[in-house]
Amino acid sequence: MEFRREDVPQREIFERLHDFKPIYKTPSLKVIKEQSARCMDCGIPFCHFGCPLGNRIPEWIDHAYHDDWKKAQKSLEETNNFPELTGWLCPAPCEDSCVLSLIDKPVTIKEIEKTISKYDTLEPRPPKKLTGKTVGIVGSGPAGLAAAQQLRRAGHEVTVFERDDKPGGLIRYGIPDFKMDKALLDKRLKQLKEEGIQFVLNYTADISICDEFDAVVMAAGALQEKGLKVPGRELKGIHLAMEYLKYPNSWAYDKHVIVIGGGDTGADCVGTAIRQGAKSVLQLQYHTAPPLVRDSFLNPWPETLKTLSQAFVYEEGGIRLFSRHTERFIGEKGHVTALELKEGEILPCDLALIATGFSGTDSSGLLEPRRNAFITGDMERGASLIVWAIADGRRVAHNVDRFLMGNTFLPVP
Ligand SMILES: Cc1cc2nc3c(=O)[nH]c(=O)nc-3n(C[C@H](O)[C@H](O)[C@H](O)COP(=O)(O)OP(=O)(O)OC[C@H]3O[C@@H](n4cnc5c(N)ncnc54)[C@H](O)[C@@H]3O)c2cc1C
Ligand code: SF4
Repeated sequence: MEFRREDVPQREIFERLHDFKPIYKTPSLKVIKEQSARCMDCGIPFCHFGCPLGNRIPEWIDHAYHDDWKKAQKSLEETNNFPELTGWLCPAPCEDSCVLSLIDKPVTIKEIEKTISKYDTLEPRPPKKLTGKTVGIVGSGPAGLAAAQQLRRAGHEVTVFERDDKPGGLIRYGIPDFKMDKALLDKRLKQLKEEGIQFVLNYTADISICDEFDAVVMAAGALQEKGLKVPGRELKGIHLAMEYLKYPNSWAYDKHVIVIGGGDTGADCVGTAIRQGAKSVLQLQYHTAPPLVRDSFLNPWPETLKTLSQAFVYEEGGIRLFSRHTERFIGEKGHVTALELKEGEILPCDLALIATGFSGTDSSGLLEPRRNAFITGDMERGASLIVWAIADGRRVAHNVDRFLMGNTFLPVP
């Protein structure tokens, strides 16, 4: 192998802790081309198996290698509506399935995808012919937006309803800015609007919306947090993760912060609290620490890797403790001061953030069965990933178009 894997360079820790700007730097095109040379163009490309969108990875990597960025971008957009979002935010299960990872480090597929996405001019592609059919979409996260774009391009009148003041779902209100510049989302939304998709904001839809449209897509996410029922939960200074991440302010400054729960949400709370100047940030996880390397018996290739997360926030000062269970919160004058574990330890705590996961949709009224209603994204699958949300949005668009027209040319992932 002529080139070794070069991971995406990050900004220096001391620099990035003072702002919320994205932590990743942009590698040169020369490096990206060298990295694309590592793709072996396998007879059976298992990266396809790993990518929920079925992205044609070896095809666009080959175009990138030959400096044909426009062709690469055209190939990528055929399967992925928002490659800039996955390029920045996807945990890249495709790389876990890369054949090269059997003998060496995998190809940097996600970074190549991100680079190719920059060659999209975001030229709007409104439909040439209208069908006269109307589609309402509830929720403007990646699932709702992918479904909206596909259905609009199929010629339908599409209206997206969002209860927040801006569209984007968790990408807008949840995922912190240090993981992706939200200007990218705004540029994509501009394209969607120019293609003729209508957005109705600050609007909480209910099931009666099904009476207004020929078909309705429910893409309202899985935003009901599980929370934590332990003594002392009523004390001040204890918050659900999304209360904290949705409108981050300086709650953590000069505080001992404890994040309860792992996963993306917990890691994002850790990174946010560190940047807000917390005195200490501790993350508690109830399960045992996953292995450092792939267990080839329990988690064989090409399955998604189940190893210890190497999220960057743990290099920035966030400390993780595994196999820890919360017994109760301890407080003084109505405010939390410590957290007691079932294992016996008492940990100082001025701010506790509960990131124990999501149990499903918080808009359950939308689940009432209707003959013209379709459900998609996290709302259907449970809390998942952006790449799955886009894939689900594309799949539901195929089904809706077939329901409305009797047949469809929209592809399924
Ligand atoms: C903190 C956090 C960090 C994450 N980080 C990553 C990451 O780095 N990479 C990754 O791949 N995934 C990540 N995820 C997961 C990812 O964000 C979700 O899987 C994805 O956004 C789901 O998309 P969706 O469109 O199904 O739902 P959502 O993005 O949740 O969007 C649902 C939308 O529906 C709206 N809505 C709900 N009810 C109504 C109603 N009645 N009327 C109108 N609107 C309504 C909501 O306001 C919301 O905007 C993260 C999740 C969290 C919580
Ligand atoms: S969307 Fe995710 S899984 Fe698919 S090619 Fe991109 S990084 Fe890999």
